[in-house]
Amino acid sequence: MKFIKGVTYKQCPGCGQFKLYPVEKMNALSRKDNKTYVCADCGTLEGFDSLKAIIEEIEDKKKRERARDLFEKQRKELKEFLGIN
Ligand SMILES: [Zn+2]
Repeated sequence: MKFIKGVTYKQCPGCGQFKLYPVEKMNALSRKDNKTYVCADCGTLEGFDSLKAIIEEIEDKKKRERARDLFEKQRKELKEFLGIN
């Protein structure tokens, strides 16, 4: 995410990093409870995670397992890219 100079960021309840913009509504609204604000990177990860439910609906077992593997691999890469542990 892009940091704005001169802004004092707050601790994100999602990742624990100081990436939460002080103006609450300028952050991402968590899909988990629809009331907690998380940093933009956590919001991105939550959006990605919503794909998991769709993968679980794949009827063919082999395809589902393949999709799960791809999902986990991409999730790991996304987390590394975003700097979320
Ligand atoms: Zn975060």
